[in-house]
Amino acid sequence: MKSDDVVIDLPDGSRSSTHDNVVLLLPGSRGPGPTDDQPMVVRLQEALDASNEMILVVEPSGRVLFANRAAQAQLGLSDDDPNFRAVEGLLTGPSRLEVWNALEDTGEWRGDTSSTRPDGSTVQLELALLADNPGVVPNRTRADNSDIATLTVIANDVGERRALEDALEHRANHDALTGLSNRQYLLSQLNDELEELSSRGVPSALLLIDIDEFRTVTNSLGHETGDRVLVAFAYRLLRTFPSNALLARVGGDEFGVFCPGTDDVEALAEQVQRTTKAPFFIDGSEVHLSVVTGIAVTNAGEPTPSAEALLRKADAAAFSAKDRGRGSFELFEPHLETDAVDRLSVVQELRRALRNDELRVQYQPKIALSTGEIIGAEALMRWQAPDGELRPPAGFMQVAEDTELIIPMGRWMLKNVCRDAKTLQQFAPEDGHFEISINLSVRQLGDPSLVGDVEDALVDAGLDASAIELEITESALMEDVDANASLLSSLQRLGTSIAVDDFGTGYSSLQYLQQLPVDVLKVDRSFVSGIEEADGDEAIVTAIVQLADALGLSVVAEGVETPGQLDKLRGLGCTLAQGFHFAKPMTIEDLESLLLQKPRW
Ligand code: C2E
Ligand code: CA
Ligand code: CA
Repeated sequence: MKSDDVVIDLPDGSRSSTHDNVVLLLPGSRGPGPTDDQPMVVRLQEALDASNEMILVVEPSGRVLFANRAAQAQLGLSDDDPNFRAVEGLLTGPSRLEVWNALEDTGEWRGDTSSTRPDGSTVQLELALLADNPGVVPNRTRADNSDIATLTVIANDVGERRALEDALEHRANHDALTGLSNRQYLLSQLNDELEELSSRGVPSALLLIDIDEFRTVTNSLGHETGDRVLVAFAYRLLRTFPSNALLARVGGDEFGVFCPGTDDVEALAEQVQRTTKAPFFIDGSEVHLSVVTGIAVTNAGEPTPSAEALLRKADAAAFSAKDRGRGSFELFEPHLETDAVDRLSVVQELRRALRNDELRVQYQPKIALSTGEIIGAEALMRWQAPDGELRPPAGFMQVAEDTELIIPMGRWMLKNVCRDAKTLQQFAPEDGHFEISINLSVRQLGDPSLVGDVEDALVDAGLDASAIELEITESALMEDVDANASLLSSLQRLGTSIAVDDFGTGYSSLQYLQQLPVDVLKVDRSFVSGIEEADGDEAIVTAIVQLADALGLSVVAEGVETPGQLDKLRGLGCTLAQGFHFAKPMTIEDLESLLLQKPRW
């Protein structure tokens, strides 16, 4: 029983609600109950009028015999127009067969309809039509084809409820920020569409578009501005794709776009890269974005994939595109899914590597360009797999970061490299240290025990902190400038120096550089490799060296591979250099033998 039903105590001790027996108790009806039923009828009339539900008795013609107060008010019934048009429509209109059949068979029909009030407004109704037992009402007007003389109608105005339901459904299916579909809704729409398209032999594509390093936008400009950037980006996407495409925000900074009937997806992906490139001007800031796009296609003649499988493929392709670098896109290939499985086994293998002490360190010499001598080295992590192969970080570093295994691995590096550094101090110049650089990942920066770990490693090795330089990539620094500023200060207080790694590739607005306590800029290899080309990167490297001078920082050039590059860098006043031109990363034993030879470049 619904809570707004009116419950009536009947004289015989039983109870009745407005859902039951109503018609039996109408004026003029001969209900069961005592013959002297007048007082009860009055009480019931009051009870019916107190109900929020509209309760009516109508003839099959639609003529209203009785309407409680709610019905009169909400339907705008008046003596001038004694018909309940909605019911009349149901009983005589196109749906009459269905309605009459239900009434004849089961005695009731339930459904929704709308009714126009005499003033022209409409009301959305949820109706129950209950067939009254013929004979109950004496002056019944029999429907031509039925014994049913009158009907009790219980009606509710569900306009507001439906509007709310629509709003809730919209909320459940859409992303509140951009108004696009959400992941769940995209998947359900896709499952419907994929079936339909494949039955017609129409190919389609799902693009997964992931904004590169979006965290740096929110971290530097704040979440509100970040949100506005996302909305602006969503609108750009909407304008980029044809109107039959389904767009959804499937994650924080990830968008899914389903394009039915597309044959040139790569052109679409390129179009996305192009539209993303133009700067966004939001809240007074100029924001530059790039995206990686993973694409999965369905082909006519192949079995229809599920929406989930298609999204998984697009996701795997996007993941692989990320490896290629910012602004790239990639089409799904079956081997990418095996890559995902590989990732899982990498995680398990890495855990074992830590347990079984399979990590190694290699050192790449750093050369002072003023003297041409080796003055230090960068420590680089390696993994000596049980098969004997020495694996570079490219195959496992991302997984280590994603799973936070990098934290114990980084701790391992700090400990072991500090010990090695102690040994290498025998090669230090008279007035200083043989300086060893250690790379820190963005995860380690967020680890509250980092400063303590560095201190422990130094104490454990009995090493002076100024022999250690910590390298942090520019993009990691920019992820949270404020937090990193205080972290770097704590590290500097220990006595280590700080280098900004891969400088020039991050999201850095240079003004941050002044706020951060850093000592060294490491110019990214991509600039060094372009330095000899006509109108190449020489101007940029020159500008970096000048900036570093102005800020009192030294400059390390990474990835020097040719004598020509070395000459240029010397000419520009670069402080230090490293690269294959001098030496590749090597074991500490090899480094020691090399140092004993005292090479000069
Ligand atoms: P990175 O810090 O930029 O290190 C320089 C990378 O460039 C090294 O790759 C090095 O072997 C390579 N390299 C050096 N000179 C040349 C050259 O002349 N030409 C070319 N083509 N490459 C050169 P590696 O050792 O494979 O390390 C890759 C990245 O892995 C590193 O880039 C660093 O980001 C990360 N990494 C390495 N060890 C660690 C570590 O202990 N902790 C963390 N968090 N990251 C590490
Ligand atoms: Ca480095
Ligand atoms: Ca680097």
